[in-house]
Amino acid sequence: MLSRAVAHISAAALDHNLSTLAQRSGTRLLLPVKADAYGHGMEVVARRAAAHPDVWGLAVATPAEAETLARLNLGRPVLLLTPPAPEEVGPLADLGVRLPVGTLAEVDALPAHAQAHLKVDTGMNRLGARPADAVAVGRALAGRGQLEGIYTHFATADEPDLTFARTQLGRFRAVLDALPPALAHCANGGGVLSFGQIEGMSLARPGLAAYGYVPEHLRRVCPLRPVMTVRARVNQHHTVYPGETVSYGALWRAERETEVAVVGMGYADGYPRNATLKAEVLIGGERRPVLGRICMDQFMVDVTGLDVQPGDWAELWGEGDLTATEVARWGEVIEYELLTGVGGRVERRLA
Ligand SMILES: *Cc1c(COP(=O)(O)O)cnc(C)c1O
Repeated sequence: MLSRAVAHISAAALDHNLSTLAQRSGTRLLLPVKADAYGHGMEVVARRAAAHPDVWGLAVATPAEAETLARLNLGRPVLLLTPPAPEEVGPLADLGVRLPVGTLAEVDALPAHAQAHLKVDTGMNRLGARPADAVAVGRALAGRGQLEGIYTHFATADEPDLTFARTQLGRFRAVLDALPPALAHCANGGGVLSFGQIEGMSLARPGLAAYGYVPEHLRRVCPLRPVMTVRARVNQHHTVYPGETVSYGALWRAERETEVAVVGMGYADGYPRNATLKAEVLIGGERRPVLGRICMDQFMVDVTGLDVQPGDWAELWGEGDLTATEVARWGEVIEYELLTGVGGRVERRLA
């Protein structure tokens, strides 16, 4: 079957971003490929990233993602970032997945062949051991030869004010100083871009930045390229006449004779419904408005005066003149939501 919508994944853009971020952090990368690699396709991205010299390993959020990734046998370590259920620990350890550990009970439950990364909660207050407890957990792991890494996560490193991130870093350093050497990592994309090299770190974990997106105030720090370009096909082309309306709710009314293209991607595919009456696409070499409500499987575009036929492609966002940042703004979501929301009907195609 032909695909109605395709997310083109640029290997060159991904390679460029990985090299750029590794250079900026002065470390190798532990690349987050959770949530289907931020919607880019976990297998496609993981295979490409695993062939990149600056990638040490891959990080995921759920045991199922860790299992899928480990079974690909890409020759790179896989770190699970959230605590597994007790019955998941053994199978994950058997697959070689590195496990996050934050309590002495988790240390005790760890199979002898498992490698762990001590998770320190320095202020995010989401996961891990508070600094006062982390040292004992880390010593227990080290004593058993299972302390491969030590990490924490910033709450505000992508914001202009880095005061709290620096406080978190100070707490993390105090824990590192009290433990035997291990792979230390703390920086998400915001951390890499804001701080550059952080003394004593072995790895960095940029996610969104690796896929090409950077907060406004950090755009000038280093040039990154959007990895995903989404295109959807025109399924039909027709004319509507003055006074007629288009789509649900009859929100848009033609003031003149209008050529309409129906494009095959809708909110079920991750094109945000809240972008209704704001969105534009690139079609026939121009930027043209989406007409009326965005539907589940399609939306309509004004292509008056353009040579557009069924089977042609519209570009919804990507490396060109129309970015995911813009679409996210129209849809009242952040880039993370837009990208991770790209649905299963959208084919991921590496190019
Ligand atoms: C998702 C995640 C990251 C990546 O964050 P970005 O903001 O996308 O750079 C890094 N570390 C952890 C623990 C995460 O959960």
